Amino acid sequence: MASAQSTAETTAQHRAGHGARLTVDLSAVTANWRHLAAHAPQAECGAVVKADAYGCGLAAVAPALWRAGCRTFFVAHLSEGIAARALLPEAAIYLLNGLPPGGAEAFRAHALRPVLGSGEELAEWAAATESASPAALHVDTGMNRLGLRVEEALALSGDSVIARAGIDLVMSHLVSAEQPGDPLNAHQAEAFARVRAAFPHLRGSLANSSGTCLAPGARHDLLRPGYCLFGGNPEPGRANPMRPVVRLEATILQVRQVEAGETCGYNARWRAPTPRRLATLSLGYADGYPRSASNSGHALVGGVLCPILGLISMDLIILDVTHAPEARRGGTATLIGDSLDIDTVGQAAGTIGYEILTGLGSRYVRNSIE
Ligand SMILES: *Cc1c(COP(=O)(O)O)cnc(C)c1O
Repeated sequence: MASAQSTAETTAQHRAGHGARLTVDLSAVTANWRHLAAHAPQAECGAVVKADAYGCGLAAVAPALWRAGCRTFFVAHLSEGIAARALLPEAAIYLLNGLPPGGAEAFRAHALRPVLGSGEELAEWAAATESASPAALHVDTGMNRLGLRVEEALALSGDSVIARAGIDLVMSHLVSAEQPGDPLNAHQAEAFARVRAAFPHLRGSLANSSGTCLAPGARHDLLRPGYCLFGGNPEPGRANPMRPVVRLEATILQVRQVEAGETCGYNARWRAPTPRRLATLSLGYADGYPRSASNSGHALVGGVLCPILGLISMDLIILDVTHAPEARRGGTATLIGDSLDIDTVGQAAGTIGYEILTGLGSRYVRNSIE
């Protein structure tokens, strides 16, 4: 009893020592993964966990996905791959950014699979690999970013370098998957089908989060969702079938009354049209909440949507709580959560939910719940 109490006190003190709390719902991550897996029973569902699992914390997210049944993971960099390997000793881990010059040794030491994105990378991996360590071949069907050109890939059909390099997967990446009406989707699907026909023995992967919602033909053998596992809407403009994953809450430091005509914050970017009640939150752009949401974002206090006023400061945000009677010193405001989903927050900040997630800071108390 005594020790439970002191644990609770320590937790309360710990919370009070920070301005904000980020809660990551791991059961929502795994539910989202299961949802995708169930809707594409012909394909394997992998998980993209680059950028510290989209800001949600690789250390908690990766093992949770493994326990849910996910066996194939994608990250961007070697350092991310090494971190993922330590958490997932038996998983297949692909590195989307390919093979850096001289990197083969480190990849092999950690049993990591490069997604080879050029003829040079392919040749280097094949030369460095005696026993055909697995790797993927990236074919560019329209992004012009990473990957062999379609013609370049087709010319490798039947070439022994494919087997020597241990290629077991051919993949491409969609340019506009979140816009199902964009003709680029059909163009890329057709180009990828030609590539797959040239390598009939290789597994194929094309679909990111939004790609999983396109025609079933876009799914191929392995899905590569990232964003929607973390609650992002794969079909903008339609109801989000995913469960929300992150909740960001900040403490209210002060509540004050201002008269009509008074201003608030740096450069006086907001002026009270009538007498108002303001609350100051202990969270700012240094915590990863975007400054571009100044004068346009919102927070919830007791379920009431309260506008952000003026410029967001480094450590503070000012909120209009005139219509939120629950606002009080020590109370809580929700910046992300409930009606303020990551897509909505991204839009208010003039960006996308992806950037909100990956920008989530390390200044909070972070909690994972299962
Ligand atoms: C990041 C990434 C993904 C995941 O995309 P989401 O839109 O987050 O699902 C898939 N494939 C590649 C090549 C990527 O870079």
